[in-house]
Amino acid sequence: MKKFLIMILICAPFLSAAQDQEYKERFEQLGSMLPTPNSYRTASGAPGENYWQQKADYSIKVKLDESSNKITGSETITYYNQSPHPLNYLWLQLDQNMRAEGSDSELVSTATFFNDTIPGKYLEQYVANGGNSYDFPGGFNIESVKDADGKTMDYLVQKTMMKIRLPQALKPGENLSFSIDWNYFINDRMKGGGRSGYEYFEEDGNALYTIAQFFPRMAVYNDVEGWQNKQFLGSGEFALTFGDYDVEITVPDDFIVGATGMVQNAKEVLTKDQAKRYEKALKSTEQTFIVTEEEAIENEKEKSTKYETWKFKAENVRDFGFAASRKFIWDGQMVELETTKPFAQSFYPKEGNPLWEEESTKAVKNTLVLYSERTFDYPYPQATSVHAASIGMEYPMICFNFGRPDKNGEYSVRTQLGMTYVIVHEIGHNFFPMIVNSDERQWAWMDEGLNSFLESNVMFEYYPDLPYNDNIPQAITGYMKSSKDQQRPIMTNPEQVLRLGPNAYSKPAAALNLLRNTIMGPELFDESFKAYAQRWKFKHPTPADFFRTMEDASAVDLDWFWRGWFYTTDHVDISVDEVKYFRIAQDESDMEKNAKAPKGDLGEKEEKELMTDFSEGPSYISVSETPEFWFGEYRSKTDDEAIKARYADKHFYEITLSNEGGLVSPLLFTIEYKDGEKEEKYIPAEIWRKNETKTRKMLILDKEVSKIVFDPEGELADTDKSNNAFPKEESKTKLDEFKEKGE
Ligand SMILES: [Zn+2]
Repeated sequence: MKKFLIMILICAPFLSAAQDQEYKERFEQLGSMLPTPNSYRTASGAPGENYWQQKADYSIKVKLDESSNKITGSETITYYNQSPHPLNYLWLQLDQNMRAEGSDSELVSTATFFNDTIPGKYLEQYVANGGNSYDFPGGFNIESVKDADGKTMDYLVQKTMMKIRLPQALKPGENLSFSIDWNYFINDRMKGGGRSGYEYFEEDGNALYTIAQFFPRMAVYNDVEGWQNKQFLGSGEFALTFGDYDVEITVPDDFIVGATGMVQNAKEVLTKDQAKRYEKALKSTEQTFIVTEEEAIENEKEKSTKYETWKFKAENVRDFGFAASRKFIWDGQMVELETTKPFAQSFYPKEGNPLWEEESTKAVKNTLVLYSERTFDYPYPQATSVHAASIGMEYPMICFNFGRPDKNGEYSVRTQLGMTYVIVHEIGHNFFPMIVNSDERQWAWMDEGLNSFLESNVMFEYYPDLPYNDNIPQAITGYMKSSKDQQRPIMTNPEQVLRLGPNAYSKPAAALNLLRNTIMGPELFDESFKAYAQRWKFKHPTPADFFRTMEDASAVDLDWFWRGWFYTTDHVDISVDEVKYFRIAQDESDMEKNAKAPKGDLGEKEEKELMTDFSEGPSYISVSETPEFWFGEYRSKTDDEAIKARYADKHFYEITLSNEGGLVSPLLFTIEYKDGEKEEKYIPAEIWRKNETKTRKMLILDKEVSKIVFDPEGELADTDKSNNAFPKEESKTKLDEFKEKGE
């Protein structure tokens, strides 16, 4: 009988914890939601002993014809089959085919509403062709596909991809060289949008070309998906194979070219002075102009019709992009990292100044420094920021960035802010996904989210005076409490996402800032994040590799966090329902004070209204003698009077909390004492592990409290501040707000 009683008493707290809850497995391990670990990808999140990936080397020759805005190219790809499987065919990506007439991107684009009026640009873009392209003969024209002996190969163009049928299987360990000739028309970005294309400057009759996805590229074949088979519809970006590039770019001989990799023939394509300045710039930690604004303005007038060839080499990159124009000013400086000395450089037309000469290369440098600290020293020899109106787009070692002053060279803080963070962001993409090479076609958040997180850290560290407040928990609450049918979990393919910005960029970035600053702490977070980056540098990680590494390197079980933030659209809304105040009665006179005061749960059980403030003072709890059976087999006994005396000066506050938003959250309270002092209390999210919707916490404090506020600074992304404080804050009436404004 006694045993039975003990069991009941011991179980009692757990029984009460399990009451009135809605169980949604929020603390269950991710378990089967993640792929089974294997010898390619381990349970620790690291590459396994049999991890493999393919390699593709490129030798490319392209000509950019200015009069027709056409790219004509030929390439030889050497594909190394490092997989354990024989391959009967190869798949390549023909991304330009997204712009071909009748492409799937056009066909599956959904109608926008016709209002009484529509801006001409939209009509051209969205209505005339029913899709994303305007009247434009886009898409690759494949001229030939030949093997190493010059024999035509059997191939199939399947929308934005191309299959090469091999006469015999390419065995594990073998490699194969083949050549492709092609051409395509470059799109006018102003008319059709796009990650690459050209912008035409009417005033001086020159174009600024930002060229990418310009050659047939090998698709990824890996242990997770086999051949990538998701067509390019426009939102899901790229999955590409690492390799070495040898690229010759033929342009009018007064063009300046920036590209992935290092230029090999600077002396041939630059003037003597420029070549000298380039040599000097590579070794200088001071900003150095290779092409000055005066030279660029002179250059604009030339309109040479002669062509010359710029030669570039890049090693271990997953792609290649370039920018070319006779409008380019070019500056750069060396950046001294711990183990590498990359060259930070910028290409921009006079229209970008004075902003660009002041800020661009500096932003490249700041990005390389902070990202290197958090991941690995930037391993490529250079990083380039190119000015391009209205876009931000990244390629290995080179990116295209917006931010243009008005015609008088004046710019607002917003323009400077936008330009600065887009450069930080796009340069940051060198780390994610150019080097830590996640599959963008499947998961936009793996590069955009991780990158936006580090972007925010650069902005906070180097640009505290700019009004940047993105990618932090406070900034994502509006999205997270918005209508759930307008949201998708972060773990959603980018083509199905409704709002890519918050979904793939700011929500995962806010989650990581929350993880770093509040849940894990900077030291543990940075060490784990670095472990992920270093494990997957120049490899192809998946979401599970990230989730697992972050836990494996920190001994913090984050399954609940990944579940809530990445697999659901729940939001954080913790409500402080009630705070009850208790003290331990020392004598009868204390108990008499209780006569009028309402009792807490430790007292009467009758239904009553929730407390809304501390005005009734504490309820006193009497300490009774401990029943004999509590001691069980123990020989010694406690002194109940001494226990009572020990807590004479303590103040007990029992906080009742509801999880209204569904997303479980750690608790962070600011406690304001009657004497005016303040204190913070952090309680890990596991407080919800037995009851995901209601919990109670007893704080035993030395002083009397005047106020308790949950998440006062919004660092936990709590979406509704109106239920965070006790005493309850009167919700402001319209009249109050009016009065406040009037003062
Ligand atoms: Zn991005």
